[in-house]
Amino acid sequence: MNDSRIRDVVIVGGGTAGWMAAGALSATMGEQLRIRLIESDEIGIVGVGEATIPAIRLFNGLVRIDEDEFIRATQGSFKLGIEFLNWGRIGESYMHVFGQIGQSLDLIEFWQYWLRGRKEGLAGPLGEYSLNEVAARAGKFGRLPPHPGGQIDGISYAFHFDAALYARFLRGHSERNGVVRTEGKITGINRNAQNGFIRSVTLETGEEIAGELFIDCSGFRGLLIEQELETGYVDWSHWLPSDRAIAVPTANVGPIRPYTQSIAHPAGWQWRIPLQHRTGNGHVFSSKFMSEDEATQILLDTVEGETLADPRTIQFKTGMRKLAWNRNVIALGLASGFIEPLESTSIHLVQNGIARLISHFPDRHFAQSNIDTYNRRIAYDYERIRDFIILHYTANQRDEPFWRHVREMELPQSLRDKIELFKATGRIFREQEELFAEVGWFQVLIGQNILPETYHPLADALTRDELAGFLNDLKTILAAPVPRLPSHAEFIAQTCAAEPAHAG
Ligand SMILES: Cc1cc2nc3c(=O)[nH]c(=O)nc-3n(C[C@H](O)[C@H](O)[C@H](O)COP(=O)(O)OP(=O)(O)OC[C@H]3O[C@@H](n4cnc5c(N)ncnc54)[C@H](O)[C@@H]3O)c2cc1C
Repeated sequence: MNDSRIRDVVIVGGGTAGWMAAGALSATMGEQLRIRLIESDEIGIVGVGEATIPAIRLFNGLVRIDEDEFIRATQGSFKLGIEFLNWGRIGESYMHVFGQIGQSLDLIEFWQYWLRGRKEGLAGPLGEYSLNEVAARAGKFGRLPPHPGGQIDGISYAFHFDAALYARFLRGHSERNGVVRTEGKITGINRNAQNGFIRSVTLETGEEIAGELFIDCSGFRGLLIEQELETGYVDWSHWLPSDRAIAVPTANVGPIRPYTQSIAHPAGWQWRIPLQHRTGNGHVFSSKFMSEDEATQILLDTVEGETLADPRTIQFKTGMRKLAWNRNVIALGLASGFIEPLESTSIHLVQNGIARLISHFPDRHFAQSNIDTYNRRIAYDYERIRDFIILHYTANQRDEPFWRHVREMELPQSLRDKIELFKATGRIFREQEELFAEVGWFQVLIGQNILPETYHPLADALTRDELAGFLNDLKTILAAPVPRLPSHAEFIAQTCAAEPAHAG
């Protein structure tokens, strides 16, 4: 037995990040670790993260969460993708959906055939070749398995849920797995004089809680990673100038959509996230280009139902900690950085940080090479997501000062390379462990009206009639199951409707 093993882990913070970390560590390493989580009801949580991407299903599997039970407990709904309205030009819309679009043929991606078909007037809108988009537009949902034969995927989905209820749900799981929760406010942090490592934290009550590894999930303040260790922040607000979000919940109007909506406004954009008991809304904007009053008014003028609370403002600075892991502190969630929720990536970054932490789990020697590798991987994950979000902004044809600014700004080299390659050749390459696949980039590039000059020469191997047949057949096969699916609301009612007691 290795006697350098870490036993005592202290998680600081009980928002989505803290309870996800507690849930995952207790489910996977609970036999070896004593895990304590400290949270303060007085400080509270951000609690507005409500939309996710399909990878969350892997996380729920890891924590051994039953999917229907989870949806019932969190007032959840299903998400097939995101509809972007007014992002290219005002009046336009497109979807970035999960899952497959069309089907690749002879080693090249479907969209190379679609690009040729589009040039020759043979192809319909991209969404017609996506099962997810056809189902989303019809308001339908089902857990549809892959097409027999295995070449055509089933429905790929994620969730919308109430983040506060998700944290509560994970707390139940974690406590059953032995995590000890302490309610209280941390007022002191105590360090080892020799190496500067955190030794313990002191609560307002005077209680001292010691640990070997600390996971900082304290939100934007970064209690350990920043306020104590002064790790520093990489500021990306010159690329992503939005710095505020105004959030307000509303009553549902009509059947709930199985997708998120993102509506561009003169200095930012608005999310609409349908849950079982309400709709989450928020206006993300840049205070350099719009006042808070104006942004609030735009939000209140464009929500669909009656507001259920007063609007509240959340300030942020886009970027990431210079080091996600510093000494014996690992930051997760808002303590580690923030990229606006345009593609619902924050909860994913928490999940990703936890998975990487488990794979790099240290012993008491805290090998610097292990810490450096972890930090490199996290920075890479953040930077690739950052580029994808910037793409939505920079490729616009709108005319307001904010949109002109983001269109004309200097881009990160990594993004410039990707756009240039696509424009010149119609090709996209997913690098290393980049989160968003080529098909995601393609939908946003095309949706934002970036069109390549050409397509792959292999797409010319089909005759014009063969191409027309290929495109038509795919459209028919992909859309065929949709009429038989229940509506999203019916599916929820049949399988995972929340108890009225959970509503609120
Ligand atoms: C406007 C907005 C919209 C978002 N939308 C999405 C989305 O659609 N999808 C998505 O994936 N993500 C989204 N996110 C991100 C998501 O909300 C966060 O990633 C997630 O909620 C994690 O928050 P957290 O747990 O890091 O921090 P918090 O929720 O802020 O939790 C911090 C915790 O630390 C505790 N704490 C702090 N200081 C102390 C102290 N001194 N003593 C004791 N305890 C302390 C608090 O009590 C609390 O429990 C959004 C974020 C924002 C700001």
